[in-house]
Amino acid sequence: AIRTRFAPSPTGMFHVGGARSALFNWALARQQPEGTFVLRIEDTDAARNRPEWTEGILRALSALGINEEDPHFEGPYFQSQMADNHRELCERLFKEGRAYYEEARGVEADDAPSGARYDRRHRDAGLEWAPGRALRFRSPDEGVTLVRDRIRGDVEFPNSAIEDFVIARGDGSPLFVLANVADDISQGITHVVRGEEHLSNTPKQQLIWEALGHTPPVWAHLPVIVNEKRQKLSKRRDKVSLEMYLEEGYLPEAMVNYLMLLGWAPGDNREIMPFAEMEPLFRLEDVNSASAFFDEKKLRAFNGEYIRALGVSEFVERCAPWLGPGKAPWPAADFDAAVFEAVAPLAQSRIAVLGEIVPNVDFLFLDKPVEDEQSWNKAMKPGVGEEMLTAALERFADQGLAWEAAELKTALEEAGAGLGLKLGKAQAPVRVAVTGRTVGLPLFESLELLGRGRVQERLRAALA
Ligand code: GLU
Repeated sequence: AIRTRFAPSPTGMFHVGGARSALFNWALARQQPEGTFVLRIEDTDAARNRPEWTEGILRALSALGINEEDPHFEGPYFQSQMADNHRELCERLFKEGRAYYEEARGVEADDAPSGARYDRRHRDAGLEWAPGRALRFRSPDEGVTLVRDRIRGDVEFPNSAIEDFVIARGDGSPLFVLANVADDISQGITHVVRGEEHLSNTPKQQLIWEALGHTPPVWAHLPVIVNEKRQKLSKRRDKVSLEMYLEEGYLPEAMVNYLMLLGWAPGDNREIMPFAEMEPLFRLEDVNSASAFFDEKKLRAFNGEYIRALGVSEFVERCAPWLGPGKAPWPAADFDAAVFEAVAPLAQSRIAVLGEIVPNVDFLFLDKPVEDEQSWNKAMKPGVGEEMLTAALERFADQGLAWEAAELKTALEEAGAGLGLKLGKAQAPVRVAVTGRTVGLPLFESLELLGRGRVQERLRAALA
């Protein structure tokens, strides 16, 4: 049965590109009843690894549905715990003449015969290990290494161009090329599906697989992900952290959907599709080798669609993390769940990211609306603003006026007409006085929810 793996290095925030690799591997593993997805944390770079990055990876994967609750999931394994195996394999490659030690660098570097390849100068010196001596793999002198890649087709690497590469440092610690293969072998990996940046390692790794007497896995190198300027996505320049997206209120299922489309498509021009439907359709052969554009606007649009597709009570539940202490700007005691439930359907159709719920509803739970001079000046035009607020207050004082959206609309329409203002112009000062903003949820429903007393209070405060 198929055994795929995802092997991140915990050296930073978990990248959307990593998430895409994980999802492709996950889909492949789950396609077979006995298929397995191995999670391996490649934590051998002690200087750059941090436990919180590992935790971030585990959390983010789990949010996407990749976790030990699923029987296809295996791990996580930690590369640092497999050091014995790495050393044994190095030893074996040395004993079998597939690798050799070289004199510590610097000692003889100056008298290298001119023209000789530095990487091969101790090839036949028959050196034993001693501190400082690195171990180099003996690459074949002739022929080609043929990498059969499921996405890119056959890629030929002339062996003459493959250096005698270092597999273990002078202190005996293995390099990435070796440790990565060693773990793939010991974990029985059948398919290595990873980013294109590793394609240059692949011929070397395939040589190691063969030298150790194993059939190399199926290789598949995923296209690079680029921004709108066609630059490779980078954590310095672009928003790439999966956790950041989740914290802003991108739904995991929308992220999964969007990430699956980075280099692959289910066909029939379908785009919005749950993972469960994509999974059986996914094939490595259909992954495009051309770079994939990470379109934040499109992701946002996807997320909006996923939000609108939620049932209202589900939507209310999903909003909860943004409404509680720590995130919400209002005192926890002032939050009213019933009011939120009433306003939720109005907000659900308008926001594209869950975090946007806060500026849409804060006027309901804050003691005073937010203050924003720009919005204020825009809405409170001289000759209109105060006049309109005064007229509105007058209408709202009429106890015969039912406090209900449709009635409130008529009332404001009339108040505006008295000043020669169309409804659009007439409601702007009221909106800003009551909500602090120039745009937001439908005004009359908002007024209804806020209640007569608080609306009057805010209109008076605005006039004061
Ligand atoms: N730790 C490597 C990385 O994160 C793994 C590469 C691979 O998947 O083989 O780039």
